[in-house]
Amino acid sequence: MTNPVPPLNLNSGTSIPQLGFGVFRVDPTDAQRVVEDALEVGYRHIDTAALYNNEEQVGAAIAASGIPRDELFITTKLGNPDHKSGEVVAAFDLSLTKLGLDYVDLYLIHWPMPANERYVQAWRQLERFYGEHSARAIGVSNFLIPHLETLLVATDIVPAVNQVELHPVFQQRELHDFAAAHGIGIEAWGPLGQGKYDLFGMSTIQDVAAAHERTPAQIVIRWHLQAGNIVIPKSNSRERMRENFEVFDFELTSAEMVAIAALDEDRRVGGNPADVN
Ligand code: NAD
Repeated sequence: MTNPVPPLNLNSGTSIPQLGFGVFRVDPTDAQRVVEDALEVGYRHIDTAALYNNEEQVGAAIAASGIPRDELFITTKLGNPDHKSGEVVAAFDLSLTKLGLDYVDLYLIHWPMPANERYVQAWRQLERFYGEHSARAIGVSNFLIPHLETLLVATDIVPAVNQVELHPVFQQRELHDFAAAHGIGIEAWGPLGQGKYDLFGMSTIQDVAAAHERTPAQIVIRWHLQAGNIVIPKSNSRERMRENFEVFDFELTSAEMVAIAALDEDRRVGGNPADVN
């Protein structure tokens, strides 16, 4: 069966499967099983990070799957302590070792930590990883517009993506438009609102779900896809992994897209990147 997930072109010259699987807060004791399940369901794009403490288990699942490396898209991220200390090369090498890979498809600066004033320096090192092909694309995460502007002025390579909190109650339209204007892909973290808002209980989401005979989670994921976001929902349950993957055989109408757009309340579930240092 051909994989239904569409590839999105990145400014790196590579492409990313628009739907991936995130492993934040997946305990290391579960992570290998969870990622093996996700790969079996059909996900080929896995999003981890040094800070998630499960890169080794993600690597073990990749090795056990037997899936050819070039059919997988693996993202990991520079952890805040390594960013702070400037130990970028050692951190990247350790991530590769833990993952059991000789390259990643995407390497991100996890948080800008603006008070630390090291993200430009870190980015220059990521540019070298890209030049050496040990990161096939490089990007950032939790960067606000001023942080992106600083990078655009001070460095050579435009980030391929900015991975940011984004869901129907926090849609980040200004950032979205800025990224689009500069060829930066927007990757939505917490795409389901991390279960912290009653997104699924909102009447708009429920009405759209009823109209398509789908679950609220499927409606929210479909909304991300049609909005052009790269989306990486997480679940430990195989059933929900499957549910979240079955979103390519229906389409929201433009009226439904507009109705969901109207749910924006500019409310974060996570920290404000300006203050995370
Ligand atoms: P999410 O929005 O994906 O929500 C996950 C929660 O939703 C879990 O509690 C899960 O049980 C529940 N859920 C999943 N599918 C469901 C379904 N079909 N029905 C009902 N409930 C369902 O939140 P997340 O895990 O924080 O974000 C996704 C990924 O984004 C992470 O795993 C990680 O890879 C990435 N992330 C990145 C950052 C960053 O700073 N760059 C921060 C947070 C998350």
